[in-house]
Order: sequence, then structure tokens, then C-alpha cells
Amino acid sequence: DGVPGVPLAKGAAADPLPHGETPGIRFEKVVKRFGGNVVLRELDFTVAPGERVTLIGPSGSGKTTILRLLMTLERVDGGIIRVGERPLSHMERGGRLVPANERHLHEMRKQIGMVFQQFNLFPNMNVLRNLTEGPVHVLGLSRDEAVERARGLLDMVGLADKIEAHPSQLSGGQQQRVAIARALAMRPKVLLLDEVTSALDPELVVGVQDLLRDIARQSDLTLLCVTHEMHFARDISDRVLMFDQGQIVEEGPPDQIFGEPREQRTRDFLQAVL
Ligand code: ADP
Repeated sequence: DGVPGVPLAKGAAADPLPHGETPGIRFEKVVKRFGGNVVLRELDFTVAPGERVTLIGPSGSGKTTILRLLMTLERVDGGIIRVGERPLSHMERGGRLVPANERHLHEMRKQIGMVFQQFNLFPNMNVLRNLTEGPVHVLGLSRDEAVERARGLLDMVGLADKIEAHPSQLSGGQQQRVAIARALAMRPKVLLLDEVTSALDPELVVGVQDLLRDIARQSDLTLLCVTHEMHFARDISDRVLMFDQGQIVEEGPPDQIFGEPREQRTRDFLQAVL
């Protein structure tokens, strides 16, 4: 199990978390527009392999667009996105980079997992099938392998007894745990979290956040997180990027951004959300 040639950090094949070589992320002069609205204007930033980065900033500043570009749900209008050494938005053809075709995007997408605000579970499938569908049909695992992997993950998120349940029979917090397990079942190397607790009842938020914090700390995943919950951002990140109007206003370790923000726009934003 695991990546060939790379020793598992935690020994046991039963370890449900991905370990091993993790790619970083690089945005190089990325432009994204919707009609005449330029959302990202030559945006540059990098996330190091295994680094955990949170994006904060006012609504409409482009944070979700960045995650959707990485999930290949949107395409760039300029610049290049790389995951590891390979371009995501482009591919090599005769020594030149050309816009990626569907096949290249599909291949690159396998490295990237995403957890959404609204869980997005398959409503007509039980929990087990939600977790095995991707591994069987996209990764080509046997059903037995996929079921074993699913059981390990459901144990980890504390839902082993819900394996036969349908999403509608679960609380929001339980559905989000299933969604987290489903993302991890694909053994992604990069995990994207988009406002993952905004749709939860307040009493369920901390449990899901603690689970994600533990997963982030115990795996080698490269993590990119968008959240309005500043204590979660502080808990989960090595670095925080403050965005406004598609540009990075300020970046630094959470203690600095939340404790001694340098920019007025960061101070105004934090005052508004805290
Ligand atoms: P944030 O996540 O920081 O709130 P978004 O990335 O969702 O910001 O949005 C950035 C800007 O892009 C906003 O002005 C938003 O209206 C616009 N936008 C996002 N998605 C679309 C879309 N599918 N069509 C048109 N405009 C969009």
C-alpha cells in the first residue's frame, strides 16, 4: 500500500491517511475573469509541499475561485497553475505548453480532493457507496479494496456504524464527516476545504474542525482552506493569505496575521469578522 518506493510514515497499511510525496501548488500570473469582471489579475503564490495554507478575506475577493480552478471546475484565462512539477491548467505538446484537454485535467484531478460547504454527497447512495464509487470507477480499485479503505476511513471519522445509512438519515456534522472520508478515499495529495463548517449547526462545528485539524497534522497533505472561522484558520494553518479584490494584501503565520496585522485592510476585515 502507499506510494511505491516511498516508505509509509506510519507503518501500518491500515493507516487511512495518505502519506508520501506531496506536491506543492504554484499560481503563476493567473488571470480569471467572468465576463468583464476580472476576478484574479496576474495572481502569483505558492504553497509548499505539505504546507497548510488558509485563504481569508472579504466575500467576493476570489478565494472560492482559486479552489475551483484547482478542482478544474473553472479554467484560467491567463497564466499557469502547477501542482508539483506538472502544469494543471496546461500540458506539454511538442515542447510547448498548451491549454489542458479533458484527459489531462482528469489525470491531474486525481491528486486533488475537495470538501464543500454543502457536503455534496450522492443522495441516492448509502455511505459505503459514497466512499467506494470513486475508488472503484476512477482509481480502478477492486470492490474489496475499496470497501476495506472505506471501513478504515469511517472508523477514523467515527461513523463505522453508519456504513449502510443514506445521507438524509445523517446530521449535517455526520454528512460532512462522510464527505471528508469520501475525499480521503481517493488518497489525494492536495486537499481543498471550502467553508466546510458554514452550513453546520453551531454545536457541530467544533467536532468537524477538530477532525480536520487532526487529519491535517497527521498526514502529509498539502492543504488549502477557505474559512471565515478565524480560530479554525489559526488552528489548521502554517500560513494565512489575506485576499482582497483578487490580490494578496498580506501573508504570514497565523500568529502574525491575527495578532499583529500590518495592513489596514486586514485589520478592518478581522474587526468585521471577529
Ligand atoms: P470569495 O470566495 O472570496 O467570496 P469568489 O471567488 O466566490 O469570492 O468570487 C469572486 C468574484 O467572482 C465575485 O465577484 C463573484 O461574483 C465572481 N464569480 C464567481 N463565480 C462566478 C461565476 N460562476 N460567474 C460569474 N461570476 C462569478
